[in-house]
Amino acid sequence: MQKLDDMNILDSSIMNFIISVEKVAHVQPNNNIEHALLILIKSGYTAIPVLDTSFRLHGLISKAQILDSILGIEKIEPERLQKTLVSDVMTSDIARVKDTERFEKVLSFSINHPFICVESNEGSFLGIITRSKLLAYLNGFLHGNKRKM
Ligand code: AMP
Repeated sequence: MQKLDDMNILDSSIMNFIISVEKVAHVQPNNNIEHALLILIKSGYTAIPVLDTSFRLHGLISKAQILDSILGIEKIEPERLQKTLVSDVMTSDIARVKDTERFEKVLSFSINHPFICVESNEGSFLGIITRSKLLAYLNGFLHGNKRKM
């Protein structure tokens, strides 16, 4: 089979795959985790980005992190949902790239991350790239290419 770097897919702009900011469900660092849990449950997503009011990326928050944070020693403590802030629970150790990053980098990040956050050079959040979008593109590309060979 032809090597991927012999094809021009690795030169594709990552902006071809982005889900843009206005379509991305998110919460703010000073929201409580009850609000974040509601957004996560209603959207059906496992994790979503945390953005401030200037659309700067702070991290991500997941259902698992929220559930973990309300686990007491022998029981679940739901009263913590209102008292705890997103900023206390979120992780800032996330997959993030600039919009000028190469396709290759995003592809390798997607091995361990279901989505990758994209920012402008000035640090504004632009959107996310999901593993499923990348795989769908790669699949379409490989099949289209096979038909040409
Ligand atoms: P998918 O590949 O579509 O299953 O998405 C993988 C993950 O990316 C989801 O579980 C969410 O954590 C995140 N995600 C996908 N689409 C969105 C969106 N519109 N807003 C926020 N997070 C999203």
